[in-house]
Amino acid sequence: MTMSPATDLQQVLDNDWCIACGACVFADPTVELRLHPDKQMFEPTHPGNQAAAEVCPAIHVDFENLQSRLFPGSPQSPYGVVHSVMLAQSTDIDRNLKASSGGLIKELLIELLGKEDVDGAIVLKHVNGLDFEPTLITDIAEVDTLPGSIYHNLPKDRVLQLLRENDGRFVLAAIPCELEGIYNYIFKFEPRLRHRLQTTIGLLCGWQYNWHSIRAICEYKGIDPDSIVDVSYRGDGPIGRLKIWTNDGKEHTTNRRLDFGYQVAFDRTFNTPRCHLCINHANFLADIVVGDAWLQSTLKTKTGISLVINRREESDRMMRSLAARDRVVLSEVTVNEIRESQKPRIAFGNFAYAYAEYLDAIGVPRPVMEGPNRPAAELVSQQEVAGFHDELQTKLELQRARRYRYLRWRKATKELGRFLSRYWEWFAHRVLRTGRDPEARHSPDRDTTSIFR
Ligand SMILES: Cc1cc2nc3c(=O)[nH]c(=O)nc-3n(C[C@H](O)[C@H](O)[C@H](O)COP(=O)(O)OP(=O)(O)OC[C@H]3O[C@@H](n4cnc5c(N)ncnc54)[C@H](O)[C@@H]3O)c2cc1C
Ligand code: SF4
Ligand code: SF4
Repeated sequence: MTMSPATDLQQVLDNDWCIACGACVFADPTVELRLHPDKQMFEPTHPGNQAAAEVCPAIHVDFENLQSRLFPGSPQSPYGVVHSVMLAQSTDIDRNLKASSGGLIKELLIELLGKEDVDGAIVLKHVNGLDFEPTLITDIAEVDTLPGSIYHNLPKDRVLQLLRENDGRFVLAAIPCELEGIYNYIFKFEPRLRHRLQTTIGLLCGWQYNWHSIRAICEYKGIDPDSIVDVSYRGDGPIGRLKIWTNDGKEHTTNRRLDFGYQVAFDRTFNTPRCHLCINHANFLADIVVGDAWLQSTLKTKTGISLVINRREESDRMMRSLAARDRVVLSEVTVNEIRESQKPRIAFGNFAYAYAEYLDAIGVPRPVMEGPNRPAAELVSQQEVAGFHDELQTKLELQRARRYRYLRWRKATKELGRFLSRYWEWFAHRVLRTGRDPEARHSPDRDTTSIFR
């Protein structure tokens, strides 16, 4: 696709591509992020100026340039720069059980906050209801009060604000597109901030949800969304349960795997639309990446295990030092585990690159991104993406009209065949161990992963 330089954020607003990284807010100080009442996702208040467009990762991300600045001279792979890959779990059972996967992010935060050249960590903290915001913490005791993974869309402009306002060196925990916006802005307009990032802990990220998801599940469960005081998506085991707390003191728990309402409300069409084009799920720009270990060999473990990608020697050393002090247990694996855990469709962008081509063909401006995984991508058919695109438009309209009950009825009737076949695919792959990705044949067996709970 040939790129005509965007002069503002209009195409982002028109096509709902914003992921709320906040870079535009600093490039054009007239811009603010707000929760759009119909879309139920954060986006800029107005199109802003050319500077905003220049840093916006919903318009363009030059991965080659950003990666060469962050990891000069390091060899690239379809998974980005990879020094080593590990499976790991915190030895602290409470931390592990409260976390989304192995409790690794909190172990890393505690370790890094204890280092002399780290002045604090910028992490997500609960504010109220569904609001969580990037906050600067300096005290190790605060780490265990932080939430687990938050899967709904949140504004991240405070990250750059905190980096600007505070002298020192900081750890940042962030999802991939957040880092894309932050580095786009830093390298373009304020390179002095680069030095303030001591380590970036990246989350692996397959999607995030707009706020219709929570509204829909609330409708199915008879919960008033305005009465929500807190939410947690994971914890208590590898898959975890969605918990919603309301101001009458009640805890509402939903099984993420078995609850039909959850399957409707957290259907992929509830993702912020840019997630369908995302090719950076493996967080190419982070120093160390933490995700879930969705492996057959770890299927029967009782608590979550993290998949860790060390992009630098320093983080590899830190992980081994944590293991030597019994803070974590770890098992060294290979990029095959990234592939098996994420599946090639996500890891290599098989769907996303094909969807981008389809949008070009129908003349829809879209984020321009080509990652190091492009040569490995085997694009799905244009027929598949066209079908997805049409259904997405229909379901976005239904969400925006808040027809959540109709969406549930639709899933139980018109979409039932597809829903059941996807469920069967998951069951056969994960539980019956059939149809395994042949390239993942070197994955560890259960003996190698028996060190985990
Ligand atoms: C939106 C999203 C989608 C994800 N998708 C996948 C996926 O498809 N596959 C996969 O393997 N892993 C995915 N992950 C990562 C996974 O869910 C865990 O976050 C990761 O394995 C770390 O687990 P943990 O046990 O170390 O962290 P936890 O102890 O659960 O802590 C997570 C910490 O990360 C930070 N954090 C949480 N949510 C956010 C957020 N939205 N933005 C910025 N920082 C945040 C907070 O500081 C929090 O304390 C996703 C995470 C998020 C937030
Ligand atoms: S993706 Fe980031 S830079 Fe682009 S419009 Fe959204 S908040 Fe602004
Ligand atoms: S899938 Fe990609 S675009 Fe979506 S939230 Fe995750 S990193 Fe951002």
